[in-house]
Amino acid sequence: ELYNQVQDLKGSIRVYCRVRPFLPGQTNVQSTVDYIGENGNLMIVHPHKPGKDARKVFNFNKVFATSCTQEQIYGDTQPLIRSVLDGYNVCIFAYGQTGSGKTYTMSGPDLNTEETWGVNYRALRDLFQITKKRADIIKYQVGVQMIEIYNEQVRDLLVSDGSNRRLDIRNNSQLNGLNVPDASLIRVSSTQDVLDLMRIGHRNRAVGATALNERSSRSHSILTVHVYGKELISGSILKGCLHLVDLAGSERVDKSEAVGERLKEAQHINRSLSALGDVIYALAQKSQHVPYRNSKLTQVLQDSLGGHAKTLMFVHINPDVNAIGETISTLKFAERVA
Ligand code: ADP
Ligand code: MG
Repeated sequence: ELYNQVQDLKGSIRVYCRVRPFLPGQTNVQSTVDYIGENGNLMIVHPHKPGKDARKVFNFNKVFATSCTQEQIYGDTQPLIRSVLDGYNVCIFAYGQTGSGKTYTMSGPDLNTEETWGVNYRALRDLFQITKKRADIIKYQVGVQMIEIYNEQVRDLLVSDGSNRRLDIRNNSQLNGLNVPDASLIRVSSTQDVLDLMRIGHRNRAVGATALNERSSRSHSILTVHVYGKELISGSILKGCLHLVDLAGSERVDKSEAVGERLKEAQHINRSLSALGDVIYALAQKSQHVPYRNSKLTQVLQDSLGGHAKTLMFVHINPDVNAIGETISTLKFAERVA
């Protein structure tokens, strides 16, 4: 029944847009967001285009204005997340240029402040609450994996020794969504367990990187929640998984400036984000051929994209006029898959 609740007219793909507020100190900065409508409309004003060409309207399932709280964002996501406990596979993506608020939406600004927790922690807290409520009927087990995809290589973020093993992806129906079977899968039963793991994950993400922010903006991080439930009376089994994906920054790098490692990173990011766009577009078009094989990202998520799986993409924009180029390209990417 939850499945019907989350069914959308256009199918199983939804796109939400979130506009980041100006940061403290950003006073007198002109905003490119002209207007946010009730029905998912967003009007952008281009600072350098004249007359009627200056304004452009984009349409999404929903647009969240700068005043929107983490709680409101989660409220809209909750039915989708809860369907995982009924055996559905769900993918939630944060897309946008670096600094647009992806990590804020997914994790929040600070692990230690519950009020500003992002979707990740709220989702797990919610799942634990419901599994407790249903404990007389269904016995659930919840496990998490946390991986990073950097330069088309998959790494485990939950290894305690910080070892840098590259992991293989396997797509095999017998694996039940465990597409990176060698990444640590850790049983969790409380938000405290999850916070402890996140700290390990964050630490591992920083390994070998000059600065955590630098690295995290150039890799995709995926937190996967595997749910396994056994109905106590009938004995039937249900399995679902939730992928929470903080994507690499979508900004295009100036090819004349980027060289060496930086250029390679940029090419990998561009390729994998377009591969993701192509997969979602193919699914939205109900195309016969869905090009999952074109990136590690889409291979990892293969059985949670399409079929009965549900997809939600949060696209983030920075309202600063100086970001107009990236804002337009982000919104175009999003509109193509919406
Ligand atoms: P990204 O992950 O896309 O690079 P961040 O999530 O790190 O961007 O956000 C960049 C900065 O903006 C951070 O300082 C973050 O705390 C702040 N920020 C982002 N979104 C919001 C928001 N909705 N409300 C308040 N501050 C935000
Ligand atoms: Mg980030």
